[in-house]
Amino acid sequence: MKYHSTNNPNHQVDLKEAILRSLPPDNGLYMPNELPVLGADFWNVWRGLSFREIGIAVAGAFFGEDVPEEDIRKIVEGTLEFDAPLVTLEPKDHILELFHGPTLAFKDFGARFMARLMAHLTRDEDRMLTVLVATSGDTGGAVASAFHNVPGTRVVILYPKGKVSGLQEKQLTALGGNITALEIEGTFDDCQALVKKAFLDRELSERMNLTSANSINLSRLVPQSFYYIHSARQLAEGVEPVFVIPSGNFGNLTAGLLARQLGLKVERFLAATNRNDVIPEYLLKGEYTPRPSVATISNAMDVGAPSNFVRMQALFGNSWEGMRGCICGMAFSDEETRAGVREVKERFDYNIDPHGSVGWLAARKYREMHPGAETITLETAHPSKFPDVMDAELGKGVVEVPERLAVLADKEKVATQLTKEWEPFREWLGENIA
Ligand SMILES: *Cc1c(COP(=O)(O)O)cnc(C)c1O
Repeated sequence: MKYHSTNNPNHQVDLKEAILRSLPPDNGLYMPNELPVLGADFWNVWRGLSFREIGIAVAGAFFGEDVPEEDIRKIVEGTLEFDAPLVTLEPKDHILELFHGPTLAFKDFGARFMARLMAHLTRDEDRMLTVLVATSGDTGGAVASAFHNVPGTRVVILYPKGKVSGLQEKQLTALGGNITALEIEGTFDDCQALVKKAFLDRELSERMNLTSANSINLSRLVPQSFYYIHSARQLAEGVEPVFVIPSGNFGNLTAGLLARQLGLKVERFLAATNRNDVIPEYLLKGEYTPRPSVATISNAMDVGAPSNFVRMQALFGNSWEGMRGCICGMAFSDEETRAGVREVKERFDYNIDPHGSVGWLAARKYREMHPGAETITLETAHPSKFPDVMDAELGKGVVEVPERLAVLADKEKVATQLTKEWEPFREWLGENIA
């Protein structure tokens, strides 16, 4: 399969380049030249398949031309080491829990798959693949955990000293093995500037076999489409779900569109956002106006220029009518989001995080307008990741940190201290990453 840039259909690359480069040089996004469809042999049996079997079929549809079936199986099994349970709050109101991975957010699915696919694509090279990433907290943890113990790879994470939370820091610094943390005396922007400079230094970047594991890497989207199919199959036969996706960069929603493209029957997608409502506004008015993001309590969705918008457009042949026929947008304020957290607790004794709350509010509004609709709201993170909001709305200690994260608190932090200057960083790379 060949891949092209959304900015230029003539810029074509193979799978390895699309995945290891992450971004085309023209700043577009990579898309497969043909969008795969699963055949009757899959849709005749899909309701009886396991999560992993669904993952293997979907990954095979996208990557089967380039990756042997046995390797696809290993990559999918390594990715899906945890479940995505569907919880029913009341009839027609379902929550898809995507936080059972090591870093308690749905991004574990994409990051783990990407790590394993990258390792596969570089398996014949005798040099290590080095992932260089700057983080202000969460992203670095998901990437570190995803690549931890993946043979042939290592991760170097730069984070700003004193600016990440205690548990976040442990996620970056306590894994050991092929994960190295650099504690930079500076801001997140300083960390990012160092990473950018390393990539721009072609000699260095090639000698060290650097890759960015960027969040808009195509290989992150494909595994996210697994759980759309996996959850839909658990509804009564013939029910077409309305998927509700709390969105920021719209990667998760784009993955849902890929699942629909594969043949999954979906009544509607709801693009649920906080006050950063560029896409709901576009769906309503047909005008796309990216703008600086504003801070909210669902901060992983504070995005003013959603990076996957061009992929969404490509999937609808750049037709606004086409997109609004399939996706409905809704936006909610912080006050509404807080009220949603409280209401879900009071009515269902369920702890929903602020991102999930935005989704749940959209789902309820949609069901009110369409009484027959059955909604699946994606719960994108575990509520313990947002203690300030949860403690304020539900009381201190109501939400507990899951064991798999809590154990990190007792582990030792190992990090190398560096200033924000380029030369010492370059020297450190030269001495440690050769
Ligand atoms: C990243 C993230 C989102 C937004 O997902 P996109 O794919 O960027 O739309 C929503 N909720 C949580 C908790 C996230 O971490």
